[in-house]
Amino acid sequence: MAPLDTDTLLSVYLALSGLTALFTLAGGWTTRKPGLWLWSSAFMASLLGQATRLAVAAVWSVPASKPPGHLGGVLQGLLMLAGMYAFIGRRVPWLGLASVFGVMTALSLTLLQTGQSLWWSLCATQAVMGLALARAAWLAWRARDAGGSGALTLMAAVLGVAAAVALARAASVMPIGLSVEQLNAANERWLMVTLLLVVAEGFAMLVLVNSSLRDELAVLADFDPLTGLLNRRGLRSRLDRLRRPASGDRDEVDVAVALLDLDEFKLINDRHGHQVGDEVLAEVARRLRAGASADELLARTGGEEFMLVWPVPRGAAAAVGERLRALVSDSPVATPAGAVIVTTSVGVAVGPWNDGARFEELVGRADHALYAAKHAGRNRVALA
Ligand code: GH3
Ligand code: MG
Ligand code: MG
Repeated sequence: MAPLDTDTLLSVYLALSGLTALFTLAGGWTTRKPGLWLWSSAFMASLLGQATRLAVAAVWSVPASKPPGHLGGVLQGLLMLAGMYAFIGRRVPWLGLASVFGVMTALSLTLLQTGQSLWWSLCATQAVMGLALARAAWLAWRARDAGGSGALTLMAAVLGVAAAVALARAASVMPIGLSVEQLNAANERWLMVTLLLVVAEGFAMLVLVNSSLRDELAVLADFDPLTGLLNRRGLRSRLDRLRRPASGDRDEVDVAVALLDLDEFKLINDRHGHQVGDEVLAEVARRLRAGASADELLARTGGEEFMLVWPVPRGAAAAVGERLRALVSDSPVATPAGAVIVTTSVGVAVGPWNDGARFEELVGRADHALYAAKHAGRNRVALA
């Protein structure tokens, strides 16, 4: 194989960094995800570092062109780290990052001024870049459960490999007992791997952003924005979680469905305005949520209608309906328009838990019971 040439590799590095900067910029533009702007500027930094290197080499001298390239790498690593802090919603430690960059700039320029080997500059800057990437990989790994599914794990892996490569490159260019040819050969080998990693990093970012957008969509599709409760779709898609009672045989466990419809809610809107109506709905949701336990599914299934589904030992459902009614009706809701009295009617149906079709039947029966509760004078519970 023909020997690799550092200048050619660095030019390819410049081009790849530029393209990846462009892609991540487009990603930041279209998704408005925090972190992407910083990741884009990270690639921009290595592009600028390499462009400055070419310019300085052309108009000044080759040794003086080394520090800009080296510092471009440091800046890239630090901005990748800043982007990771931003992406996972943590404060970016700008002061610390800027200090590291300041120290590395001083070191690299001092080595140039004093005529020391600039291999030490490459070694030190690659080591710092490696540590910054390792820190970013660690942050991604720690946050992997917070969202983005497996995408943060992939990101952690790619950044971890990039960190290891930067550290290996740092170790391989230490000018101790090696000829310039040997140092060049080692540098070129690792530079080649670094090039491939730019593509891998861009790819991992794409996957990460797409999967976090998908997670956001899933939340939007399943939750009601006013109350933060599940919506009808969200409740249905979680029904199978009820099929596995923590203990005991599933056949021994009934499922209860309670439907709540606030009483005369139109009057509340008419008297106090829609805004106050909204506040009442949010407060009712808070009360129900506070009263519901972990194995109960609670949803806002319509305007002022709520549904609670829970596994229940045979014959124990009636008390829950009364508990729900009391949660809503027992104390007025405080609003800017004053205390508003709210009551609710509740329909409860209980049946064996089998499948989706059975569930629809249960909901139908609970709806009949609710109608009966309204008919009997409201603010009461009816069992199907
Ligand atoms: P009933 O006791 O028979 O249930 O009387 P009601 O007035 O509650 O009657 P109905 O259930 O038919 O009316 C529900 C009202 O709830 C109609 C609508 O104006 C209001 N509503 C529905 N969604 C919202 C919402 O998101 N915010 C507010 N403020 N009001 C809503
Ligand atoms: Mg209604
Ligand atoms: Mg109503």
